[in-house]
Amino acid sequence: MDAHVPNPLVCPTCGGALTFEILDDERFLVVWSCVECGLIRATEPTG
Ligand SMILES: [Zn+2]
Repeated sequence: MDAHVPNPLVCPTCGGALTFEILDDERFLVVWSCVECGLIRATEPTG
C-alpha cells in the first residue's frame, strides 16, 4: 500500500508546509497541521 501524497499542501493562512496525521484509516479521517503558524484542519468523510 502506497500512502504517498502526490500533491503537497500548503497552509492557506501563511503558506507554510502542512503535515498530516492519519487518525482513522478506515474512515479516512486526517488532521492537517501547519508547522509555521500552528493551523489545524481536519478532513472528514462526506456522506
Ligand atoms: Zn500556517
